[in-house]
Amino acid sequence: MTTFKTLFENYDWDTIQSKIYRTTETEVRNSLARSKRTLDDFLVLISPAAQPFLEQMAQMSHQLTKKRFGKTIQMYAPMYLSNECQNICTYCGFSLDNKIKRKTLTDKEIELETAELKKAGFDHVLLVTGEANYTVNINYFLNAVEQIKNDFANISVEVQPLSQEEYEQLHQAGVHTVLVYQETYHQEVYKQYHPKGKKSNFDFRLETPDRIGKSGIHKIGLGVLLGLEDWRTDSFFNALHLDYLQKTYWQSKYSVSFPRLRPAEGIIEPNFIMEDRDLLQLICAYRLWNEDLEISISTRENEKFRDNIIPIGVTAMSAGSKTNPGGYAVDVESLEQFETSDERSAEEIAGIISQKGYEPVWKDWDKSYMIAE
Ligand code: SF4
Repeated sequence: MTTFKTLFENYDWDTIQSKIYRTTETEVRNSLARSKRTLDDFLVLISPAAQPFLEQMAQMSHQLTKKRFGKTIQMYAPMYLSNECQNICTYCGFSLDNKIKRKTLTDKEIELETAELKKAGFDHVLLVTGEANYTVNINYFLNAVEQIKNDFANISVEVQPLSQEEYEQLHQAGVHTVLVYQETYHQEVYKQYHPKGKKSNFDFRLETPDRIGKSGIHKIGLGVLLGLEDWRTDSFFNALHLDYLQKTYWQSKYSVSFPRLRPAEGIIEPNFIMEDRDLLQLICAYRLWNEDLEISISTRENEKFRDNIIPIGVTAMSAGSKTNPGGYAVDVESLEQFETSDERSAEEIAGIISQKGYEPVWKDWDKSYMIAE
């Protein structure tokens, strides 16, 4: 089976990194002047040489996003179903070696959490778990989806990498989007952050979006955990991955997220700091390269950044998020995966979006479309 791995192996981290850092001002001007941009332009636009052009990039990004998506922001909330995990990831509060109380929601608890999210107005939910294959497996996911499918118009999942058959089952059950982040595309660094558990298999994770693409899932979301390695080089590889997937599984839609490393119980400090200004540059570069890409910003980001980024390029925002299983209603004190930064309620976020002249959209997807597929 040909997968992204074949393409990935033709690229060398150091060569890409030095290309990014050797970019010239003339190359930036040329990339900005093009009406259609390629992956090479993306590389140029994430370079340090592009930083003085940030204001121009932000204006262009705003125009392109408005043209393609209108003045709308999709609203969603994560629902953490379980913090059980058999992996050691040195940056995560749910890591196996953290001595925390483990919890997996029961049917009744899922019902209570659902009621709370519905009360806040959500129609799009993102189901999140750690990786505990004995208890939190495909049967658990299918049961959870079955339980909530009449309550939410849009169900996304962010769970451990699964087989193609399992993704097909999720698709049949009504899952709309699957998110899987490579964390870092630097293979040696990946090994250091993921020393134990199934997640330590870099290639299996790298080939996961291929299995999702083959399953026919409507939307695939990628991202890297910003802070593990040089954000510029990692983001180039993430864009390379997206480019490959869009060409190979062209029926699916794509989204990108920008998780910046956040404090959590027992975790390491980020090796690489990404400033707000850098994240703004990255978001603009994605938009200038790829007009159709959905861009999502979570509550990991601070209030000021989230408010300012609304008109620039994002298309989806989470709000009022709890990153612990049962965090909305069942067990509000349980340990979270990471500390959120923006703790405002969904209602407050919707108000801010409206104040900026944008429409907060609670429902972007109708199941009747799936019947027509
Ligand atoms: S990042 Fe995911 S796989 Fe790793 S410890 Fe956390 S929950 Fe488990």
